[in-house]
Amino acid sequence: MSLTKKILLAMVLGIVIGLLLNLFTGREADSWVQVYLVAGLFDTVGAVFVASLKLLVVPLVFVSLVCGTATLGNQARMGGLAVKTIGLYLLTTAIAITLAITVASLLGPGLGLNLEATGALSMDTDLSLKQTIINIFPSNPVAAMAEGNMLQVIVFSVLLGVAIAKSGDKGEPVASFFENLNHVVLRMIMMLVQLAPYGVFCLLAKLFASMGFGVFQDLLFYFLTVAGVLVLQCLVVYPGLLKLLSGLNPLIFLRKMYPVMVFGFSTASSNATLPVTMSTVEGKLGVDNKAASFTLPLGATINMDGTSIMQGVATVFIAQAYGIEVGIAGYLMVVLTATLASIGTAGVPGVGMVTLAMVLQQAGLPVEEGIALIIGVDRLLDMIRTAVNITGDAAVTTVVAKSENLLDEDCYRNRDA
Ligand code: ASP
Repeated sequence: MSLTKKILLAMVLGIVIGLLLNLFTGREADSWVQVYLVAGLFDTVGAVFVASLKLLVVPLVFVSLVCGTATLGNQARMGGLAVKTIGLYLLTTAIAITLAITVASLLGPGLGLNLEATGALSMDTDLSLKQTIINIFPSNPVAAMAEGNMLQVIVFSVLLGVAIAKSGDKGEPVASFFENLNHVVLRMIMMLVQLAPYGVFCLLAKLFASMGFGVFQDLLFYFLTVAGVLVLQCLVVYPGLLKLLSGLNPLIFLRKMYPVMVFGFSTASSNATLPVTMSTVEGKLGVDNKAASFTLPLGATINMDGTSIMQGVATVFIAQAYGIEVGIAGYLMVVLTATLASIGTAGVPGVGMVTLAMVLQQAGLPVEEGIALIIGVDRLLDMIRTAVNITGDAAVTTVVAKSENLLDEDCYRNRDA
C-alpha cells in the first residue's frame, strides 16, 4: 500500500476508533481506556510525531531558503517573486473573508439567539501594527531560530542567500554546501514521514476519544457554516485560481495535496506541516525549490485563509447572536482587520482564536463573551481551517511558480510523481 493510502486509512481509523472510544468510555475520564490508551499511548505517540515534524521546520526553512535565494540569480527576480506572492496571499485572504461574511449573512447562523452583552467590550491585544513590523527584523539569528520566529528566520536566510550569490568565487563553496545540506534535510523529512500513519492515527484517536460533543448541538449551525465556507474555498476558489491564472488542471493539484491536508488536519499547525507541504509541492507538483523555499514558509506564517474564514463567520455570528448592527462600513473594516490578523496569526494550533479578539474589537462586538460562545467547537474547526491554510499556500505557490517559469509542468501532470 502506498504511503498516501496508509495516511488516509490512518485518518479514517483514528477518527472512527476515537469516536467509538468516546461513545463507550467518554463519560468515565478515569477508566483505564482513557488513562492508559488515550491519555497515555495515543497522546504520547501523537506528541512525539508532532515534535519530530516541528524539529525539521527551522533547519528546512533556513537551508532551503538560503539555497533558493543563492541560486535565484538576480535580486530583481526575487523582488518580483516576493511582490506577486504577497499580493496573491492578500488577495486570497480577502476573498476568503468576504466569502465568509457573505455566506454567514445570508444563512444567519446566529439569528434568534438573543444574547445580551454584559461585560466589557474590549480586551487588550498586543498586535499593534508597529510592533508587528519591528518583529519581522531579527537582531539575533540564533535567537530567532531558537524561538522558531519564522518571519525573522526568513529575513535572515534571504539576506544570507543574497550575500552568497554576490560573493562570487568565495560564495560558491558555501552555496554548494547548502545545496548538499538541503538534500540531507529532505532525506530526513522522508524518513520521518514514514511514521506519519502511526502519528496521524494516534493524534486523531486521542482527540476524538477525548472530545466533548455536547457543545456541537448548540453550535451546529455555526460549525456547519464555517466548515461549508472552508470547503468552498478549497474546492472552488483555489481550483478557480489555478485554472484562471495558470491554466493548470486543479484536480491534479487537489489529488496530490490531500495527504498534506491530512497532515494539516491532524496537527492543526501550518508550521508543523511545512516540511510535508514543501516536499510535496517540490517533489509532486513540480515547483522549483527557488520559489517554494520562499513562498511556502512565508505562507505558513502570513497566509491564513481558513483562519480568516472562521473569523468572518464568527464576527457575523456574534453580531447576530447579540443583535448588534455592524453595517457595510463595519464589515469592510472587518475584512481589512482580518486580513492583517491573518498575517499576525502564527501557524500553530488555536492562535486564530487569539487574533479573533482584534477583529471583534474592531467591529465593536463583545470580545470575551463572544469568544467564550464559540470556543467549544474551535478545536475541530482549527483542524479543518489549517488544512485550508496550507492548501492556500500551495495554490499560490504553484500559480506564482508557473508565472515565473519555475514550474515543471511534466512533473505536475505526472500521476506517479
Ligand atoms: N492552526 C492554524 C494554523 O496553523 C492557525 C489558527 O487558525 O489558529 O494554520
